[in-house]
Amino acid sequence: MTDRSGFALELFVRRRTKVLESLGSGAMILPAAPPLLRSGDSELRYRPSSELFYLTGCAEPEAVLVLRGHADSDRCTLFVQERDPDAERWNGPRPGPDHARELYGIDAVHPVAALPERLPGLLLGAEQLHFRLSAGSAGSPVEAAVLRTLRHARAIGAREGRGPRGVVDPGGILDEMRLRKDPEEIHALRTAAQITVASFAEAIAMARPGMGEWELEAAVEAGFRRRGAGAPAFATIVGSGPNGCVLHHVMNDRVIREGELVLLDAGAEVRNYAGDVTRTFPTGGRFSPEQRAAYEVVEAARSGAVAAIRPGVTIQSVHREATRSLVEGLVSLGILEGTVDDLLEREAHRRWFPHRTSHWIGLDTHDPGDYRVNGFDRELEAGMVLTVEPGLYFPSEGDESPSGLPAGFQGIGIRIEDDILVTDEGHEVLSAGLPTDPDAIEEWVGRDL
Ligand code: ZN
Repeated sequence: MTDRSGFALELFVRRRTKVLESLGSGAMILPAAPPLLRSGDSELRYRPSSELFYLTGCAEPEAVLVLRGHADSDRCTLFVQERDPDAERWNGPRPGPDHARELYGIDAVHPVAALPERLPGLLLGAEQLHFRLSAGSAGSPVEAAVLRTLRHARAIGAREGRGPRGVVDPGGILDEMRLRKDPEEIHALRTAAQITVASFAEAIAMARPGMGEWELEAAVEAGFRRRGAGAPAFATIVGSGPNGCVLHHVMNDRVIREGELVLLDAGAEVRNYAGDVTRTFPTGGRFSPEQRAAYEVVEAARSGAVAAIRPGVTIQSVHREATRSLVEGLVSLGILEGTVDDLLEREAHRRWFPHRTSHWIGLDTHDPGDYRVNGFDRELEAGMVLTVEPGLYFPSEGDESPSGLPAGFQGIGIRIEDDILVTDEGHEVLSAGLPTDPDAIEEWVGRDL
């Protein structure tokens, strides 16, 4: 993974130029994500830091990017691992400092071993440091060097009148940039959604009662990999029956029974960009009357919320739209009683719909970006990408159901999720092509059996 995942160098240069403008006379320090252990000494497959990748395309562990708004030269400096034939034999080739300079288009590249010694000098004179304290890098050599720089500046700053004296979160600049996707990112997100959709289509076409949740997990993830996606963007959720009501059910270790719904929530990752799609379907190929009634309520909320998406509206208003629709549906199902306005006021739906309708999506499945800005809800703009994923979850409560949930609804968990690009004209459903209509779903389940 030393090829910027196929993205053009200019893209990263353009983003760094923009960050340097925003930094003024501050400096930004972005370390690579630490390698993570699964257990003992076995490492999980390495996933680069989204922020470092966003500005460099670099997916190397231990790399550190230093952007110096305060400096006239070497404004982009990168530290990378040195070439090491022994280590490369185990973990694959590294570009090393010489090649990295050209590969990432960086002014100056040094071996990472030189960072503790070089970093304080590079940061001297910066007014502020944009660095995330106590994150994955807590206690790391990078954090130690940043803290040393601050101690030094405090000691001499008063006399010399120069910083750095303060630390701020890099997200202040980067989150805002990442919220508005450039065409290359939209292309990657569209591909991630399309691969997710195609793999869902296959998995759902082979779904049948008696199958293990794990078999659907295997089918959908095989579809991702076969189509060239890197890995699932997050742990695949296959919740059958009561497991559909467990929002993050990822063990996927239960046998699916006749008559049950299955909630499948998964996403392919393409060039580090995430897909995130959910469909819920009856494994036997037919919804029970209660399952269909509840499904139609969620589907109405989904389609209403998607239709509301266009520049100028807020994520909160999309959420309100979905919530109102769900509450109307819960009243018509006889699960809630009262006027819709009163029920909304009391948040009576939260028992059955405990999460939000949307999140941003991008390099991270839950992409960063403030949902409120300066005390106001953020308005959507063309180029933003978000999910719409209303749901209803009716856990099994038995005959003595404290909430009075009729038995026919118990054990039903439904979520329907699409990925939506905001466009100038309104929106584009990136995950279109996967039916949500209940009749179409019934026809499609087990089609390949
Ligand atoms: Zn989601």
